[in-house]
Amino acid sequence: MKKISILGSTGSIGTQTLEVVKNNGDIQVTALAAGSNIALLEQQIRRFRPALACVWDEGKAAELKLAVADLDIKIVSGMDGLIQAAADTAADIVVTAVVGMIGIRPTMAAMEAGRDIALANKETLVAAGHLIMPLAKKKGVRILPVDSEHSAIFQCIQGVQRVSEETDRQIHKILLTASGGPFRGRTREQMKDIQPEDALRHPNWSMGRKITIDSSTMVNKGLEVMEARWLFGVNMDQIQVVVQPKSIIHSMVEFEDGAVMAQLGTPDMKLPIQYALYYPERRYLPGERLDFWKLGRIEFEKPDFDNFPALSLAYEAGTAGGSLPAVFNAANEYAVSRFLDREISYLVITDMIRAAMSRHKIIENPSLEQILETEAETYEFLKNQYQTEHSFD
Ligand code: NDP
Ligand code: MG
Repeated sequence: MKKISILGSTGSIGTQTLEVVKNNGDIQVTALAAGSNIALLEQQIRRFRPALACVWDEGKAAELKLAVADLDIKIVSGMDGLIQAAADTAADIVVTAVVGMIGIRPTMAAMEAGRDIALANKETLVAAGHLIMPLAKKKGVRILPVDSEHSAIFQCIQGVQRVSEETDRQIHKILLTASGGPFRGRTREQMKDIQPEDALRHPNWSMGRKITIDSSTMVNKGLEVMEARWLFGVNMDQIQVVVQPKSIIHSMVEFEDGAVMAQLGTPDMKLPIQYALYYPERRYLPGERLDFWKLGRIEFEKPDFDNFPALSLAYEAGTAGGSLPAVFNAANEYAVSRFLDREISYLVITDMIRAAMSRHKIIENPSLEQILETEAETYEFLKNQYQTEHSFD
């Protein structure tokens, strides 16, 4: 039986991962980790019987411990607990589905312990890809993409032989598709009064709050460009974003000879999740199938870099490299949480990313400690800037 550990089990990806586990019935869950939702976590524990569960919040962890006192389970908390959930159980695969750079340390701990990674937590790869990819090679572990576009790309390159370690799979270009989000077609002027509830409505996907905001600003696509660059060993200028509003084509690869391979399907995250868990096997997946007569046509557009400047900033961060992608990501995490708390207006999210990037002195090849320091400095800078400058209001 395959064994998995899920970091972020109560979230959108986490719960869908458990649905896949339930539908198949031949995966054992060894550990579950959540932030604070102990009501749902308790239900999951009773249903899937992991040996260990982690709750970030110490007080909630103590509450959960009492609630499941009748079971044989270890309850842990905080970063140490998250690392235990990632590395200390007998999992073959760790599903990383927490939000944000908080995933870096547990992901690396899981890899150090020889676990394969089913990676949803893209922020980790964006900020620390230069540490994660060599570690994967050194430890001989696989990083299996869960993000739908990256799973699509991964599916498109199956069966393509590497000529050598250097010439990576003969990819000429990655065509990363984007829905364009709920505000596609709007000007910046038309976006200035957007409220959290407007941005939290995505046309095609139902996802966690942070990634839904990121999809609306195109930050998500920017993060995905950087994610793709690490996963598939290509340069930033080999990745082209293609807007395809219905999210039917999940991404494409153009090879050296001009052939383009695409992966299509209805938008359902259970497909990439299941593919990552059972790779290279394909299993039956219940759900709606593509109906080309109903679909009729598939439309394409160029991304709107002028009205969605976060995408240009992401290319800038990824091209410069070093610690700049960590700044892009940290500034966005900070800005999105302030926006969701209604403390800054919508367009300030991108202004904050730009401001944090332009004052940062790039550290080449930053260590884990330097990345975490960069994150803290970025938060500090934006906090001070916001208090003193009301241009952010
Ligand atoms: P959600 O917000 O729905 O879920 C986040 C999960 O992480 C929850 O289980 C939450 O617990 C848990 N969590 C939060 N903070 C901590 C912490 N400090 N320690 C332990 N657990 C914590 O997010 P999504 O599922 O939407 O996204 C997860 C990741 O996957 C993100 O990186 C996202 O970009 C990526 N992704 C998501 C997609 C989607 O369709 N949702 C698609 C592609 C990528 P609690 O419930 O207790 O707060
Ligand atoms: Mg995606």
